[in-house]
Amino acid sequence: MSAPLPRWIDPYELVADRARLVGRVPAASMGRLAGLVEALPEAVSVDLAFGLDAERHCTVTGRVEATVVLLCQRCLRPFEAVLASEVSLALVRDEAAAPALPERYDPLVAAGRIALGDLVEDELILALPVVARHEVCEPPVPLAGEAVSPRRANPFAVLARLRREDGESS
Ligand SMILES: [Zn+2]
Repeated sequence: MSAPLPRWIDPYELVADRARLVGRVPAASMGRLAGLVEALPEAVSVDLAFGLDAERHCTVTGRVEATVVLLCQRCLRPFEAVLASEVSLALVRDEAAAPALPERYDPLVAAGRIALGDLVEDELILALPVVARHEVCEPPVPLAGEAVSPRRANPFAVLARLRREDGESS
C-alpha cells in the first residue's frame, strides 16, 4: 500500500516542481460523494501529474479511481462499481479565466492552496453513472415460505397430444 498523500496542496508549486502525486486519499471527508452512493471505500487511488503544456497552461492530468457501492435503480439491490476518472484539468486563478481554456481541459479554480480531497471528490462525482444499475440484474430469490407458483402445463405439449388423438380417430 502506498503512502497517504498530503491533505493540502499548492497546485502552482507542484506545477513548478513537475510533481507527480501517486497514492491514496482518504474518502472519509467526502461528504458530497457519500450522499450520492450507498458506501464509500476507505481511500481513493490517485495518480496525478502536474506540469506545463506547450501553451503554458498549468495542468493536472492523470487518474483517480475508487470502488463504491451503488444501488441498482432497476432491482434496488446494492452492487460494487468502479468509479474511474481520467483527469484533465488546467489551473485558473478565477472562474472568469475558465472559458478561455482549450476544450480538452476542465478548469480547476485555485488561487493558492486547495484540499486534494476536494479535487479528487469532484472527479469521482463526475464519474458517477447517470443511472446506476446492473448490466444484468439477478433474478429475485423467493423468500423462505413464499409459495412457489405451481408448474403450468406446457400448452404445446397439450396441443401435441390433441393432434395425436386426432390422428388416431381418423
Ligand atoms: Zn439490478
